[in-house]
Amino acid sequence: EELLDNTPTVTAYQLKLWKWMADYYLCTEGEILKSALPSALLIESETVIEPHPDFDLTAIDEAEELNDSEYLILQALQKQSLLKISEIILILDKKTIFPVINAMAEKGMILINQELNRQYKPKLQKYIKLADHFASETELPGLLESLERAKKQKQALLKLFSLEAQTKQPVSAKVLKEEAGVSEAVVKALVDKSIFEEYYVRKDRVVYQGEASSSKINLNEYQQKALEDIEHGFEKLPVCLLKGVTSSGKTEVYIKLIEKVVNQGKQVLYLLPEIALTTQLIQRLQDFFGDEVLVYHSKYSVNERVEVYRHILEDSKGKIVIGARSSIFLPFQNLGLVVVDEAHESSFKQFDPAPRYHARDTAIVLASFFKAKTLLGTATPSLESFYNVKQDKYAFAQLSRRFGNVVPPKVELVDLKDQQRKQKMTGHFSETLIKAIETTLKEGQQVILFQNRRGYSPILECNTCGHAPQCPNCDVSLTYHKHNNTLRCHYCGYHIAMQTKCMACGSNDITTKGFGTEQIETELNSLFENKVIKRMDLDTTRGKYAYEKIISAFENREIDILVGTQMLTKGLDFRHVKLVGVMNADSLLNFPDFRAHERSFQLLVQVAGRAGRTEEQGQVLIQTYNPYHRILQQVTTNSYDEMFKEQLDERRHFKYPPLYRMVKVTFKSRDLNKLNQASDWLALYYRQIFTSHVLGPEFPGISRIRNEYHKNILIKIPQEQSLSKTKYYLKTGVDKFKSIAQFRSVKVILNVDPY
Ligand code: ADP
Ligand code: ZN
Ligand code: ZN
Repeated sequence: EELLDNTPTVTAYQLKLWKWMADYYLCTEGEILKSALPSALLIESETVIEPHPDFDLTAIDEAEELNDSEYLILQALQKQSLLKISEIILILDKKTIFPVINAMAEKGMILINQELNRQYKPKLQKYIKLADHFASETELPGLLESLERAKKQKQALLKLFSLEAQTKQPVSAKVLKEEAGVSEAVVKALVDKSIFEEYYVRKDRVVYQGEASSSKINLNEYQQKALEDIEHGFEKLPVCLLKGVTSSGKTEVYIKLIEKVVNQGKQVLYLLPEIALTTQLIQRLQDFFGDEVLVYHSKYSVNERVEVYRHILEDSKGKIVIGARSSIFLPFQNLGLVVVDEAHESSFKQFDPAPRYHARDTAIVLASFFKAKTLLGTATPSLESFYNVKQDKYAFAQLSRRFGNVVPPKVELVDLKDQQRKQKMTGHFSETLIKAIETTLKEGQQVILFQNRRGYSPILECNTCGHAPQCPNCDVSLTYHKHNNTLRCHYCGYHIAMQTKCMACGSNDITTKGFGTEQIETELNSLFENKVIKRMDLDTTRGKYAYEKIISAFENREIDILVGTQMLTKGLDFRHVKLVGVMNADSLLNFPDFRAHERSFQLLVQVAGRAGRTEEQGQVLIQTYNPYHRILQQVTTNSYDEMFKEQLDERRHFKYPPLYRMVKVTFKSRDLNKLNQASDWLALYYRQIFTSHVLGPEFPGISRIRNEYHKNILIKIPQEQSLSKTKYYLKTGVDKFKSIAQFRSVKVILNVDPY
């Protein structure tokens, strides 16, 4: 019916990648398409109704056989000859729309059609030029004469000439009106006389302000060596891991590498975890590359996202794309390099909905289609990536010194048991930590405190009967939030007012257990009364620029102490932080997940890395009840290699990645019985095929969320077992399962390489 685009919106490379993703991650290409294209580019069909040509709309007031709904619809169609469902909702109740319009169509009153729509609307700017038939100089004197009596029009005409001559650029209607000091009516009069012609040009909504500053980057000898190692590595292998301690200047190495690729006329993808996608980093790249930098941000509007998409598709602007995981879906034309910064971050893996892909791994595949290179950069590589280095699958480069001879921070453990025994605790603060904060603030330096839990306190417990308020929809206790005096569920958002009495027995004797960032903030306010204390967690960063505001206030030293969750750990570069305190390392270590130890190591090393990034040595204090824990010991000595070796041994012993692959099968249902039967059925089916390495079905730590029960089967796949065959059987199992009527209400989800 209609040609929507003159050129394809999707490239052959994209289709190839999506096919690969559907195969690898066991999902459909449709699911991928939905997350891959900016939603405003998707074409949606909407049901619309029109009056039937043979039906007499003018007679409806007399027609007796019409019911109320029909009358209302026909009345609306008198005013407007086409109605969309979104407009009918304003007239009829949602449930009755289709019965009503279907009946009307049958009675020959209306026609039901489909309309294709795309939400994206380009932003157009109006330009003005002299009509072509006046272009020859002989016409001009006559033209000017004809405007003798229309002073303003003549003024506008002369201004157009002089602007064109001055700027040698097309002149927009807006500029012309401003410069000539005339109104819209004057311009319109000239257009009506066919002296001016209007035309429209697509305009960017996103403003690309960056101007490359002339400052050059001179790599130090270690960075230079790392760059050379990376380039040598790339001669043999398509992927290289750069392991560089925090503040070693990895970004500068990326910039040098990017520069070379851009100079070859190729595109670069710079992947970051969403949360690390800060103005800080974008600024650094823009300082160097100016408006070559495009950002693909989830905070952009749907229209803005389409524009970035088009620039990349047309290779019309910006060779360098910075974005979070979904930017692997963009329509690159000639990709030369992918940089995955903070490559260890688990947020590169999409959890929900499908496709449940890992952006790091997918990026490597994407790059391979272009014969491009991938650089994974991090201070704390994932076991998977470092294992690939050990297996000679990835090249390796390293930066083991901080830039500018800054010494690494001194990391110490504070034994909480010991401090408790000696009665040296004030709330959740050990005397050691309080003293260190005092000293730091006295020196005019800043402090970061890390607590991996938001809210005030995760558990409210009755001392009389032991009751703790639970979420009615989820299998978790409610977290107390002090600032608005509520009890909240962090899974479904359910909340009630804080209770002063036990809801079970009415007792007044209620205590809070455990603590979150809010409680730390409260305690700090009474410990350090005249200091500026701010909190950075999900609750304080909901607004569009809230996160940026806190960061820049901290950079400008308007904040003395910043308390926060792991948001604080993501590659932020603050100049004046001397002390970093970890309130409680044990909650990280005790998390029930096979990656908990690896992740604790990464998180602690990353938080520690925020301390002392300039001249003076930074200090890191980690409070814990287990000062002899291996991981904590390894953090204090920054012994990545030792951590790697020990964790890898454990993974080998207990058959976990990177030595085994895993697929998780999740069942969800509101009906617990059905859930149990369904998961048992599929587990049995898989056991018959795979004989071993099928675990479960088992309830996860939180077995009910939003009133849906969850259960998992975990399938481990040994290296020597064929991946494609295994996946084939996994899929067949799910297909068979779906054909069983009694399980129809049970959702089943396959998650390849789950996190
Ligand atoms: P990383 O990403 O490895 O943690 P950064 O790239 O943030 O480290 O570098 C740490 C600091 O050192 C930054 O402030 C950065 O500007 C500075 N820096 C690193 N390399 C150079 C260089 N070659 N010239 C000037 N400054 C540098
Ligand atoms: Zn009670
Ligand atoms: Zn809940």
